[in-house]
Amino acid sequence: MNVKNLLTQRIEGAYMMDRTSHRYRKCPNDGHEFMTNNLSRIYCSDHCADEFHNQKKKMEAEQLQKKKAEQTLEIKEIKQLDTAIVTSPLVGNIHLIGATLGNKQFLKVYKNYLTDKGLDFGVYDHKFRLPGTELNVLTYGPYAIAWGYEDYIILTYKKNIPWIQ
Ligand SMILES: [Zn+2]
Repeated sequence: MNVKNLLTQRIEGAYMMDRTSHRYRKCPNDGHEFMTNNLSRIYCSDHCADEFHNQKKKMEAEQLQKKKAEQTLEIKEIKQLDTAIVTSPLVGNIHLIGATLGNKQFLKVYKNYLTDKGLDFGVYDHKFRLPGTELNVLTYGPYAIAWGYEDYIILTYKKNIPWIQ
């Protein structure tokens, strides 16, 4: 028996301890063994009954809190995945080419113009080379960049370059 057990105001039955008796109880809260007068009694004291119920409520509240936290984490992960897709280098390239091209079908710019703006030439969908020529094409989503031996590149839509279709 610990100190807490000694300090607890218990309801003691007027029966001799007998573990085989229907009056025998073992308190679910602190494990105190006792004999009871009242057959509906479960706990050794009102204090234990309160503590047990409060503990149960506390655990339920904690579990609810934990569940909510897990759900929040899940939502956060989904959002992070969205962000990762939006900010992937290919998507970044597509946005940059689209913004630079504007409403034009073709745009001629110096070779380093787009790299200065942050284009990563290494991240593209497909690479083409027109056989027997110096003409190269890289595609980025609906767009294409074509260049030959000159110092400039052509920005356009894939659909405007027949031989890569
Ligand atoms: Zn108890």
